[in-house]
Amino acid sequence: MGSLSNEDLRVIKFLREQGVLENDDAGKLESPDGVIVIPCSDGDQMPDVFTHQCQLAYDGGWPVRPHMPSLHGGAMLIAEECPLYRDPHGGELLLQHIREAEGPDLKGIGTVVLYVHAPCGAAGLANLTIIHQIVYLMRAKERVKAIDTTNKVCCFIHVDYGVDEGLLAQVDDPVRLGSEKRIRQLAKELGVRIEVPPFDTHRRRTYFISYAKWVAFWASHGRKFWRHLFNEDPYPDVSSPRAQMVLRNPMPSVASPGGDQPLAPVVKTPLDMNPLTSFFSNKGLSDTLLAIGGEDED
Ligand SMILES: [Zn+2]
Repeated sequence: MGSLSNEDLRVIKFLREQGVLENDDAGKLESPDGVIVIPCSDGDQMPDVFTHQCQLAYDGGWPVRPHMPSLHGGAMLIAEECPLYRDPHGGELLLQHIREAEGPDLKGIGTVVLYVHAPCGAAGLANLTIIHQIVYLMRAKERVKAIDTTNKVCCFIHVDYGVDEGLLAQVDDPVRLGSEKRIRQLAKELGVRIEVPPFDTHRRRTYFISYAKWVAFWASHGRKFWRHLFNEDPYPDVSSPRAQMVLRNPMPSVASPGGDQPLAPVVKTPLDMNPLTSFFSNKGLSDTLLAIGGEDED
């Protein structure tokens, strides 16, 4: 299990400050049929991803039904441009599994959550930065949304910040240990099975990434810093003023929860009167935004 580099930490901090990575909000994820989750299969992170998805469902009052096809690297494999597992193409396999799971003949689940994470060993093997992962994740969203535009498709990045000193200090805390012991005793008395997981000393966080805000950020900042990472500009014709027009409000600070305000209907912006060319698809960006519904949770 690797650890975040100082560069990773700097990039994550910057993306949070810019409102690109937002603290997720359980109330935003509507999953009336359950949820298809596409994470990396990293066993060090899977318990946190799984329990987080279950908690989102609990908190939202939705059925707890996480359906989780997973491969090394997670949802970014679905992007055709992702260099990982191209032969056989892991992304095509994941797409097939999503199609089956969202179809009425199998599970009929209309909500899909796409994950990448950091640090990711698979991404490291291919020398992919967090920026590569996000670009491929956004492309994956386009492809998954194309399966059925009525499905909700939501993008998350899971970050393991490593051992947290504050949490580490609680490992041997007698009050905490006493609570664990009482829970086990109570379960025994009730004759029920209650799992008390090993105390997690890592600080792990899950951030939501809006497609439209990411594209706007690319125009305003990302291109300047990270264009050199790609053979082609991911969004070549998006200028900052235009990109900002897909946003109803300026990018919120990460310190303002609930800042992911609904986006202005893309169809009413000048973007549509002047279709733009998308790097990843032959469709214009405005078409792409329309296809994914403008809002990232649609
Ligand atoms: Zn991974």
